[in-house]
Amino acid sequence: MCLVLLCDEEQRVLRSFTAPGSCPYCGGKVVATDVESACSFCFRPLCFRTRRKFICTLCRCRLVSLPTLPPPYTHEHLTASDV
Ligand SMILES: [Zn+2]
Repeated sequence: MCLVLLCDEEQRVLRSFTAPGSCPYCGGKVVATDVESACSFCFRPLCFRTRRKFICTLCRCRLVSLPTLPPPYTHEHLTASDV
């Protein structure tokens, strides 16, 4: 009996677009890329995960963005709501 375990991760770029904000290191444009990684077992897909990667187009730095964060450079202490 021969049992072959095949589990490889396949990555597929779904789309990429220019993300709001700029690179904190060099100020370059940031491109967001949605990557779908499928973990397949014996050529049957087991799980799909979609991750969003942020990469600076100038310095190629990998960036992390918090999805709930408003666009950068807003400062909550500057709002007049707590008067
Ligand atoms: Zn940069």
